[in-house]
Amino acid sequence: MHTQSAVLGGNRLVDVVTEALELGRTAARGGRCATYIPELANADPASVAIAVSTLAGEEVALGDTAVRFTLQSVSKVFALACVLQRGDPHLWERVQMEPSGDAFHSIVRLEEEQGRPRNPFINAGAIVVSAHLSGSDGKARIEALRQFLRRASGSGVARFDVDEAVYRSECVTGFRNRALANYMKHFGVLEDPDVAVDVYFRQCAMLVDVAELARTGLFLANAGEDPITRNRLLTPRDNRTIVALMATCGLYDEVGRFAVRVGIPAKSGVSGGVLGVIPGHMTVACYGPALGPAGNSLAAMTMLEFIMNRLSLSVFEPR
Ligand code: GLN
Repeated sequence: MHTQSAVLGGNRLVDVVTEALELGRTAARGGRCATYIPELANADPASVAIAVSTLAGEEVALGDTAVRFTLQSVSKVFALACVLQRGDPHLWERVQMEPSGDAFHSIVRLEEEQGRPRNPFINAGAIVVSAHLSGSDGKARIEALRQFLRRASGSGVARFDVDEAVYRSECVTGFRNRALANYMKHFGVLEDPDVAVDVYFRQCAMLVDVAELARTGLFLANAGEDPITRNRLLTPRDNRTIVALMATCGLYDEVGRFAVRVGIPAKSGVSGGVLGVIPGHMTVACYGPALGPAGNSLAAMTMLEFIMNRLSLSVFEPR
C-alpha cells in the first residue's frame, strides 16, 4: 500500500478537493434534477458537496456538506454487500455479472434472458438483491441493511433514516420498477415482487450526507475491512466482486466513458450522489443533483475526473 504522501505526490488533499469543488459548481449549471420521482425535483440544482475518507483516517468534506440526500442507486452497493456477507448461495443464479449498456430502468433484455437481470446495479438486478436481504418481512430486511450500514459507518452516528416523502413519491410513481419485478416473478426469479419493490424503494430513500457516504464506503477501498475500526464487513473475495462490478456496471450506460475519463470503480444515484472507490487509498463521495443525460451527477463526474487525473489515481494507469 502506498503511504498517504506518496499518493498525494506533494499535493495537499484539501487543496485538490477545493479546486475540484469549484469546477463541480460550474459543471452543475449544465444539468437538471431528476423529475420522474417528483420529490427529487425539489432539490437545489446548484448545491454541490464532496467528501474524501482515506485509509489513514484523514477526512476532508467541502461545499454544501450539510445537505442530506437519498442514496437511490448508491444503496445497491450496500444492499449487495449486506447479502454477500451472509454468503447467499443462490444470488448469482438469479443475477448476472455483465454490464448492460442500457439505461438503469430498462426492461428490454429481461425477455431474452429469461428474467435474469444483467447485473445487480441496474434496477431489475437490485430488486432481486433486495429480495435476498435477510428477514422474514420487508421491515426486517430494511433493518438488516440499516444495521449493516451503521456498522460500516464506524461512528454509530449515521442513522440512515428513510426519507418518507421521497419513499412515498417513488411508491406512487414507480410503475416501471413494479413492471420489472412482476416480469421477473413470471420467470421465477423473484418470489414476492411487491415486498421486493417496497424494500427497494425504502433502501433508495435512505438519507446520508457526503461525509457519511465516504466513511461508510471505506471498507470497499480496503478489501472489506474498515481500516479505522478494524471491523471486517466482507471477505476480500466478496469485496473484490463488488468493486469489480462498480467498475464495470456502476454508471449504467455511461460506464465506459467514465472509465476512460476518471478510471475508478464508482456507483451513482439519481438523487445526485456518487461513491468512488480507490482501492488501497480512499473513497470520494460527491453530491450534485443536477444530472446529465445518462442520469449521473454532472458535478460529481467533473470533480472525480479532476481529482483522479491530478493525483494520477486511475486504476488503468501505472503510478
Ligand atoms: N429509486 C431509483 C429508481 O428505481 C433509483 C435509480 C437510480 O438512482 N439510478 O428509479
